[in-house]
Amino acid sequence: MASDAKFRRVLLKISGEGLMGSRDYGLDPDTVDRIAREVRSVRELGVDVCCVVGGGNIFRGISGAAKGMERAAADNMGMLATVMNALALQNALEAAGVETRVQSAIPMPSVCESFIRRRAIRHQEKGRVVIFAAGTGNPFFTTDTAAALRAVEMGCDALLKASQVDGVYSADPKKVPDAVRYDSLTFHDVLARDLAVMDASAISLCRENNVPIVVFDMHQNGAFAEVVRGRGRFTIIK
Ligand code: UDP
Repeated sequence: MASDAKFRRVLLKISGEGLMGSRDYGLDPDTVDRIAREVRSVRELGVDVCCVVGGGNIFRGISGAAKGMERAAADNMGMLATVMNALALQNALEAAGVETRVQSAIPMPSVCESFIRRRAIRHQEKGRVVIFAAGTGNPFFTTDTAAALRAVEMGCDALLKASQVDGVYSADPKKVPDAVRYDSLTFHDVLARDLAVMDASAISLCRENNVPIVVFDMHQNGAFAEVVRGRGRFTIIK
């Protein structure tokens, strides 16, 4: 590990929205390529990186359910959306010269590997970036919970949540101009004040297993590597 990296192994959570760029839907190839370069720069620090990708840029179960679909079926569609995003990120990472594996919580052997924890750890030891797809594999969950679960399973020393803003605020800074940004919070603060960071099950899993969550703005070039070095603007929850 490079001397100034604060972490040895991190999980990066990227929402579907984070892959959308300025589009209203789907994937923006330039944004996906930029994220791949950000991941490569952290790998170059000698830090193990694994990723969980969301699917909200393509399909969210809750929206399908709102239109009358059975929730479990709609959630399965949402999980399939995350697989598409994972394959796009894999493609961009490999094009950037980073060796990767995609592991899906829903087995689809002709597309990618199935999630096998010990195998994923072996990939990391060989320097590969493992991208976890299909969330937890269960309906009624989110990819935030999947990120917390995989971070714990993989022995990560932090979960880095790529956000649209540079940390956690007292209110939505895009709507409330005098919203206060926090440098650091406890898990208890987040749960008790119902701060919009990640869903409560993700926060609880990280709290129980002592995995800090770092929220930062992925739109800033170089931000991922800066945060891994403990620099720049972010909120740490521990
Ligand atoms: N999903 C699910 N189980 C999981 C993870 C995700 O059913 O363990 C479904 C759910 O329908 C969700 C969709 O996949 O709406 C996309 O994930 P999410 O909304 O978490 O993506 P993000 O908001 O990060 O883009």
